[in-house]
Amino acid sequence: MPAVADNLAVVRERIQAACRRVGRNADSVELIAVSKTIPAAGIREAFDAGQTLFGESRLQEAAAKIEALPAALHWHFIGRVQTNKVRKLLPAFEVIHAIDSSRLAAYVDEIAAELGLFPKVFLQVNLAAESSKGGFEPARLRAEMAALLRLPRIEILGLMSIPPAGPDAESARPWFVRLRELRDSLEQEAGVGLPALSMGMSGDFEVAIEEGATHVRVGSAIFGSRTYRLDGELG
Ligand SMILES: *Cc1c(COP(=O)(O)O)cnc(C)c1O
Repeated sequence: MPAVADNLAVVRERIQAACRRVGRNADSVELIAVSKTIPAAGIREAFDAGQTLFGESRLQEAAAKIEALPAALHWHFIGRVQTNKVRKLLPAFEVIHAIDSSRLAAYVDEIAAELGLFPKVFLQVNLAAESSKGGFEPARLRAEMAALLRLPRIEILGLMSIPPAGPDAESARPWFVRLRELRDSLEQEAGVGLPALSMGMSGDFEVAIEEGATHVRVGSAIFGSRTYRLDGELG
């Protein structure tokens, strides 16, 4: 199945083209190959084609694959974080993308201290106040940001969001702009750098890059379609 290598080449080319359109360096975008539901053999193919960064959204499924694959792979956790899984999650993943409340952030910080870790995280923002999705509402994040920044163990890289589903890639653009603007204003208000924006998936990653994404989470464009699309949709 050379399809994975071909798909990866196409996705990388599209990332480079999007970067060129807005005068960005292609190195400024990290491609996270979202490998949830994909067996280790498929991930191996992507690795053999040069992809080293992978995203998973369920701990149990991911742990088995991480164990089975070379240590040279890097893993980000992009799914909803359950508190009872944090202790196992932190040592296995380099970055957690979906810290969706101050309570969870404080808990992750506490467990990280116990484990002697300094995890890198994104704060997930629920831009459209969708009840089906987790994340801080923007006003709440503004109010709670100072306290979040005081947590001693977690390193907040920036913001992450999954915009509402729309008819096409362009319909996601206003949401990506909003996430970037929220990031910019939080940086101003808190006097801190939040360099990273985790936004853009298979259907809209080029638009996300045009609007400043530093991390794109791309699954089906690399591995083919899955039986479910987003972690949250399983309930
Ligand atoms: C599954 C998933 C993706 C990848 O979705 P595709 O449309 O397959 O690219 C990205 N982000 C999150 C949080 C996901 O759960």
